[in-house]
Amino acid sequence: MTRPRVHETVADLRQGIAAARAAGRRIALVPTMGALHEGHLSLVRAARARAEHVVVSIFVNPTQFAPTEDFDAYPRDNEADIRMLEELSVEGVFLPSVAEMYPQGFATGVTVGGPSAGLESVTRPHFFNGVAIVVTKLLLAALPDVAVFGEKDYQQLAVVRRFVTDLGIPTEILGAPTVREADGLAMSSRNRYLDAGARRTAALIPQVLTQAIARIEAGEPAASVLAEGTAQLAKGGFAVDYLELRDAATLAPVGPQSDSARLLVAARLGSTRLIDNMAVARPASGWA
Ligand code: AMP
Repeated sequence: MTRPRVHETVADLRQGIAAARAAGRRIALVPTMGALHEGHLSLVRAARARAEHVVVSIFVNPTQFAPTEDFDAYPRDNEADIRMLEELSVEGVFLPSVAEMYPQGFATGVTVGGPSAGLESVTRPHFFNGVAIVVTKLLLAALPDVAVFGEKDYQQLAVVRRFVTDLGIPTEILGAPTVREADGLAMSSRNRYLDAGARRTAALIPQVLTQAIARIEAGEPAASVLAEGTAQLAKGGFAVDYLELRDAATLAPVGPQSDSARLLVAARLGSTRLIDNMAVARPASGWA
């Protein structure tokens, strides 16, 4: 196994990518915040299926955390991450410093409307501005043929698709399915914050989503199903930020024109905030 080449600067990353391009290789980028798990590794495998030169970026992006959030506590283990990526024969790891990504005097933003409205933005109004600027910078640094993002962060994927189209960034955005634990909980770096009791409780999230989706697809009115799902989560000990049905393509409220939908949830267990989402097929009788 060859250790991936670690790039700490944009200039060094570009040099590695230019050499791969000169050798006729396609380039894939997988942006992450590290603390890698099987969910991230599935994105790397999807990237590998599309490209001969795979770069994984590991950057805990300060601009997507509010001062009250877990930026300092966010799990960081670059060595363990690099070893996992070595096993997948990843060619490059981009590990920039905060100063490399945000030079002294940094004063530029990317603001996205459309799919960023509501859901995550209600409790985390800073979040998509932070994601949009850092992903824009990562894509401009690497100019990959394809970049892979998880459906686990479904609204983020929709926001990335939106600004990549709007800004004309010449990279294909590939969405990859959510990888789950045996009990259905979506894998997340933040699951490490859960103690044993909270970890057991957390499985209620995928259970509530699955049950609600079966009822909505059978034609029950979404409003009452979602109210019951919210109550079930609250009874289980969650503080629910949202449980909402949205158009799968635009993330606008579901309407008669919606071909398919997505049920999205964010809920807190103590100080740990978990998000998840699943696909919802249009009921034979239409949306109720
Ligand atoms: P993060 O490190 O949490 O910023 O996530 C980096 C990328 O991995 C994002 O595109 C996430 O959507 C994706 N991701 C995180 N968890 C999962 C999962 N359980 N399944 C699939 N993709 C995931």
